[in-house]
Amino acid sequence: MNLKITALDTTLIRVPLGQRTITDSQSTVDHVEFLQVTLETDGGITGYGMNWSYTPGLRAAQVMIDENYAPVVVGGDPYLRKDLVKKMFYTNHFVGRVGAARVGLAAVEFALWDIVCRAAEQPLWRYLGACRTKVKAYSTDGGWLTWSEEELVRDACSLVERGFDAVKVKLGRPNPREDFARVAAVRKAVGPDIRIMTDVNCAWDLGTARFWGERLADLDVFWLEEPLQPEDVASHAELARSISVPIAVGETLYTKESFRDYLETGAARIVQADATKLAGIDEWLQVASLAAAYHRPLVPHTNVQQKLHVQLAAATPGVMMVENCYESLLDIWEEPIHVTDGHYPLPQEPGVGLKLTAATIDAHRIG
Ligand SMILES: [Mg+2]
Repeated sequence: MNLKITALDTTLIRVPLGQRTITDSQSTVDHVEFLQVTLETDGGITGYGMNWSYTPGLRAAQVMIDENYAPVVVGGDPYLRKDLVKKMFYTNHFVGRVGAARVGLAAVEFALWDIVCRAAEQPLWRYLGACRTKVKAYSTDGGWLTWSEEELVRDACSLVERGFDAVKVKLGRPNPREDFARVAAVRKAVGPDIRIMTDVNCAWDLGTARFWGERLADLDVFWLEEPLQPEDVASHAELARSISVPIAVGETLYTKESFRDYLETGAARIVQADATKLAGIDEWLQVASLAAAYHRPLVPHTNVQQKLHVQLAAATPGVMMVENCYESLLDIWEEPIHVTDGHYPLPQEPGVGLKLTAATIDAHRIG
């Protein structure tokens, strides 16, 4: 089928989390913003992409799309996606390349993929070719920094009762000794067979990470996530040489070259590539190949974009599991997927899985 893109539309919405405010070392989140991109074609097929943020700023990505990317894409052929992405990159050379420029580019890239999947009447995982029929989930919908130790332990136990065998605890309290005590309390409560992942969200310095990172090994912590600032690859490499807990990074890396730097210096052992931070699905697949070449497990970072990453995970042998987070927000998506017995089912409807419902957009539109 030949298709031509005839129109691009962007919509910005802000969805409150309701009762549930969540806190890590970087953010206190009470809403999530979404930027939906809609691409119309002359064949009657519409493609949907989106990107997200906890903080204001997606309006910058919206301007990039409306002013820089729309003139490239409208009139274009969705089957020439890689050529369109290359041309979109040319337009952001002097205004960022990464950050909001890339976040906007990814949203358009997803919509381009969505068109070809819908034209083929296939979900993304089938279009790519799959290696599994369900995807293991681990819980990051808990472990929040402001919770009391009792809340933390109660929530971790309830997740284990639900069928999760891996849970995350956020670190980065003003006194790291409290972090350690909280992880110890969770370990004592859930027992030795449950994986505990820890996440600092970049709050520590190298000295803190060396001291407390090694002590976390005594609690059999499965990984230490984003201990330091993401640009500081050298300190991550030094840390990796001095502690035995594996280091995980990816949710604030915007390029395949950043992942290459982490992998070739041994600075990270777990690759948490997120297609919404990279330039979309094609670059995520490139990072997945890179991780495979280094024999490093891939655990895609995800929060609201589970349906996309579950499909990529289904198509990528090196993926170990996918996060489960923001369950209170699942109904914003058309045909959401829910974790059962610790696993995600694969979506059956065509597309990449990033279409917000009309009711969500109507209720929460801000631009
Ligand atoms: Mg994280």
